[in-house]
Amino acid sequence: MKTVKYLLTEDRMPTAWYNIQADLPVPPPPVLHPGTGQPISPDDLAPLFPMALIMQEVSTERFIEIPEEVQAIYRQWRPTPLFRARRLEQALDTPARIYYKYEGVSPTGSHKPNTAVAQAYYNKQEGVKRLVTETGAGQWGSSLAMAGAFFGLEVLVFMVKVSYQQKPYRRTLMEAYGARVVASPSEETNAGRAILAACPDSTGSLGIAISEAVEVAAQDPDAKYSLGSVLNHVLLHQTVIGEEALAQMELADDYPDIIVGCTGGGSNFSGISFPFIGKKLRGERDVRVVAVEPAACPSMTRGKYAYDFGDTAKMTPLIKMHTLGHDFVPPGIHAGGLRYHGMAPLVSHLLELGVIEAINVQQLETFSAGIQFARAEGIIPAPEANHAIAGAIREALRCKEEGVSRAILFNLCGHGHFDMQAYTDYMAGKLRDYEYSEEEVAMALAGLPAVG
Ligand SMILES: *Cc1c(COP(=O)(O)O)cnc(C)c1O
Repeated sequence: MKTVKYLLTEDRMPTAWYNIQADLPVPPPPVLHPGTGQPISPDDLAPLFPMALIMQEVSTERFIEIPEEVQAIYRQWRPTPLFRARRLEQALDTPARIYYKYEGVSPTGSHKPNTAVAQAYYNKQEGVKRLVTETGAGQWGSSLAMAGAFFGLEVLVFMVKVSYQQKPYRRTLMEAYGARVVASPSEETNAGRAILAACPDSTGSLGIAISEAVEVAAQDPDAKYSLGSVLNHVLLHQTVIGEEALAQMELADDYPDIIVGCTGGGSNFSGISFPFIGKKLRGERDVRVVAVEPAACPSMTRGKYAYDFGDTAKMTPLIKMHTLGHDFVPPGIHAGGLRYHGMAPLVSHLLELGVIEAINVQQLETFSAGIQFARAEGIIPAPEANHAIAGAIREALRCKEEGVSRAILFNLCGHGHFDMQAYTDYMAGKLRDYEYSEEEVAMALAGLPAVG
C-alpha cells in the first residue's frame, strides 16, 4: 500500500482568497467599542491595522484577489501537497478514505506564513516600518519575522515567557530572521509591568502578550499590530488551503464527507474548511465539519458565547465569541498554539448556527494519535496538529464500527520538528491529561464584561 499524493501544478494555485462572509445566512454580531458599547468603525481600528486589512475584515465580497507579490512568495511552497493516508487507513483497519493537506512544507513549518506574508505586504504598502506581535509556541512569531524580512519591516515579538524559556530554538529562528524577541510579561509595557507587580513569577499567556503588543503598536506612529489568528482577515488569507484542497479532491475523484481541523484561534481550521462550507451554505454540496480543541482549553465546548476582550489587559475591542474569559490562563499543555481563551468570531458564529461541530480531546489521546500517524505516514506532526489527527482517527474508527466508507479530510497544519521535547516527555510518560472543573469554568467566566 502506498501513500498517494495529489499535487496541483503551479498555475492552479488560487489567485483569490475565499470570503465566507459573502455566503453567511446571518451576518455575525458586530465588534463593539469597549468604551461606548457601540459597533466600531474602520477608523477606530486604524491605529492598529493598515486600512486594506480593515476593509478585508468587514468585506462581503466572495473572492478577494491575492496581490501578485504575495502570490510570488506563496509559490515557493504552494500549492501544498494533499495525501491519501493509505498506510494509516491500513493501520486502523478502516474502510474510511483518509486524506490530509500538509502545511508543514512552508519555510517555518506551518500554515502561519499564508497570512504573515499577506499582512506584511499590506503594511509595507501603507508605509508602516515596524510590526509588533505576540507569539505562544513561536510558530506565528517566526512566520511574521520571516515575512518582515521579505518586505524590509522591523518585527518585535512578545513571546509568552514559558515558551521563551522552553522553546529556545523558535526564539533563535525569529532572531535569525532579524526580529527582536521579548519574554512576556515584560518590563517594556504598562500591561507587562502591572502583571509582574501582581504576580512576579507569571509565566505569561497569549492574552497578556497581546496586551503588550497592542500597547506598543498603539503608541508608535510607525508601527502596527499584527495578529496570527482569530480575525476575519487572517481566516480569509488561510482559505488558500481549502481552495487548493477542493481542486486536489477533484483530482482524487473524491469529495470529503467529513473535514477535521484543530482550533486554537480558528485560522487553520477555517482555512481548510471555509471553501467547502461555502458550497454547503450555497446548497451545492453537504459536508460535516468538526473542530477539535484541547480539553485543557475548551473555548467552544465548555466556554460561553459572549462578548469578551481579546486580551488580558482589556485593550482590544469586544468580540462576540466562544470564550473561557480573558483572565483564563490555560494549563501548560504542549500544544502551545491552542492555548487561547477565545475563538474566531466567524468560527463561533458558524458553531452557533449549527453549521459546524466542536469536540475536545485530552492531551494523551492527541500524542498517541500523533505517534500512530508518524509511524504510518512518516511525518512528525506539531502537537497542535495531533488534535486534528485524533479527531480524524475517531471518525475513521466510527466508519469501521458502522461498516461504512466515508472520505475524511484533515489539515496537517504543521510539523513538529521544533517540538521534540514534547515527544520526549510523552514517550517518557511525563505528560498528563488536565481535568478542567466546572468551578474553574465559572470563575473564569465571572469576569466577562457587561454588554448591552
Ligand atoms: C498557531 C498554530 C495553531 C493554532 O492556530 P489556529 O489559528 O487555530 O490555526 C495550530 N497549529 C499550528 C501548527 C500552529 O502554528
